Amino acid sequence: MAAKEDYYQLLGAEKTANEEELKKAYRKKAVQFHPDKNPGNKEAEEMFKKVSEAYEVLKDPEKRAAYDRYGHAAFQQGGGPRPGGFSAGGGGGGFHDPFDMFREVFGQGQGGGGGGGGIFDEFFGGGGGGGGGQGGANRGSDLRYDLEITLEEAAKGVEKEISFRKLGACSHCSGSGAEPGSKKSQCPTCRGAGQVTTSRGFFHVRQACPTCHGSGQKFEKACVKCHGQGRVNETSKINVRIPAGVDTGNKLRSAGNGEAGTQGGSAGDLYIVVHVKDHEVFEREGDDLFCEMPIKFTLASLGGTIHVPTMKGKAALKIPSGTQSNTTFRLKGHGMPHLRGGAHGDQLIRVQVEVPTKLSSEQKKLLEEFGRVSGDTEEPTSKSFFEKAKKFF
Ligand SMILES: [Zn+2]
Ligand SMILES: [Zn+2]
Repeated sequence: MAAKEDYYQLLGAEKTANEEELKKAYRKKAVQFHPDKNPGNKEAEEMFKKVSEAYEVLKDPEKRAAYDRYGHAAFQQGGGPRPGGFSAGGGGGGFHDPFDMFREVFGQGQGGGGGGGGIFDEFFGGGGGGGGGQGGANRGSDLRYDLEITLEEAAKGVEKEISFRKLGACSHCSGSGAEPGSKKSQCPTCRGAGQVTTSRGFFHVRQACPTCHGSGQKFEKACVKCHGQGRVNETSKINVRIPAGVDTGNKLRSAGNGEAGTQGGSAGDLYIVVHVKDHEVFEREGDDLFCEMPIKFTLASLGGTIHVPTMKGKAALKIPSGTQSNTTFRLKGHGMPHLRGGAHGDQLIRVQVEVPTKLSSEQKKLLEEFGRVSGDTEEPTSKSFFEKAKKFF
């Protein structure tokens, strides 16, 4: 396994860089390697990921302190790097990687947090999510947004602006909780590490520092806007791209758009739960669409072509002569697009043969003539029905 590059070097930042300098360095690199600017360039994509990962760690005072002390080993407890651990984007900084948005969404699995042991999970993962009382970085809460869309929008995909209330990072203090300009000093208890080690018999247990709750810093004056909380209630507006093929119940994850974390904890995610409205004409079952269509009895008898509404506009459908009511026809590939791409579902059309309710005298005459030529009797002509009904006569 190749050695991992130094996070500071990746960002082109000094080890002593402050939050602002780190953010600047990250943005510069992120812009340089962004997949949008380097289409098809695997190396750039790789760099973009590395840079994002580096910033994800260094922007978090706790993770940074751990990295400074232990290097990459700090994040490899419990065997190897954790896959879903760091996402590009994220955080309260407002710079989000559009590629991360909705990349991996359907189903359970929340990337951040929880998971398999390793002492650092205690500090960085926010534990089991519950409570969150006793200090240390707390990841912001995940939020849920229920979004209603039409079937047409689900068929084509749609971009929507949604707005919602959340606890966001305070812009006045950048989420630190300290009044800008107020003196910052190292927390005397943990000397800036954010953690303290206590001995219990043979064991050394690291815990979030009880004095600074993991921030590693001591402030003279609390931020006047958030009163030291680091978060404020705000209305957040974001654009979300709903992919074609979504169905009711699908969940889309918008990484980092949940509530801001506290004490340097990362932001939660926003989950958008899709609801597709009922449609006047179509009923959906998976990727297939059903509809019923009336056809004239003359057309059903003689055969011909009708035009049926589909999600892609009108389509021609051949009706063979002698078509009965409730016959279902299939228009291949005219259903909903599959969410994961590839094939479309089908459209199924069940026809209902319409018998005229009012006849003009000319129509009546012609039909009587038709009946005479056909040798119609009073009974239906279907032999099988006749056989079954025999016993009643
Ligand atoms: Zn503030
Ligand atoms: Zn401390």
